[in-house]
Amino acid sequence: MHLLIATMNPHKAGEFAQIFAGHEVTTPGEVGIAFDVAETGESFLANAMLKATRLREQIDERPEEEPVVVADDSGLCVDALSGGPGIYSARFGSPDGGKTELDAPARNELLLQALQGIQDRRARFVCCMVALISGSRMVIAQESWEGQIALAPSAATGGFGYDPVFYLPELGCTVADLPAAEKHRLSHRGRASRVLTAAIKAALREG
Ligand code: IMP
Repeated sequence: MHLLIATMNPHKAGEFAQIFAGHEVTTPGEVGIAFDVAETGESFLANAMLKATRLREQIDERPEEEPVVVADDSGLCVDALSGGPGIYSARFGSPDGGKTELDAPARNELLLQALQGIQDRRARFVCCMVALISGSRMVIAQESWEGQIALAPSAATGGFGYDPVFYLPELGCTVADLPAAEKHRLSHRGRASRVLTAAIKAALREG
């Protein structure tokens, strides 16, 4: 399968390439498409749909391309923050409403400050993934990954984003401490991609 992934985030693109190993995976940049979508939706699904449909429009301007367009929207939902930052995870702590984003260490520090003195550290990563197959055909998968917000960031350098502060009690470490393959086996994005791949294959078998 040829999957065109609707992201300009190099960390996510790298994860997608590993997660969908065995398939042809390309990003908009690699096929000469400038892709930039404002995430104005009010749910993970709405934002994933915005990204997928915009990229599909851009592909439809090039009739020779026939990839399956895959888009995801993901984020960290913290119980003590009423599910936040959620769909605003990338923009968490932005001084100008998201025009400029803090870097990941600064966001992690802000999150730890927001939870200072709070006992309830429960949180989950959520990933909604949409695949536009062709014409009006699509499949959707949404998965989550339960954990806790650590008391301090791990010094490990695996993963990206909130991984150094997302603690997995059953493993006794944060996601940043996991080898990449182990993260993909357990993660919200890895799980959603497996459900999505199976659904795309089933849809393609239907013709
Ligand atoms: P978006 O899906 O591109 O809107 O970005 C979601 C944001 O959520 C990312 O910039 C990260 O900060 C965070 N995020 C999503 N998935 C992960 C993950 O697997 N690890 C760490 N942070 C993540």
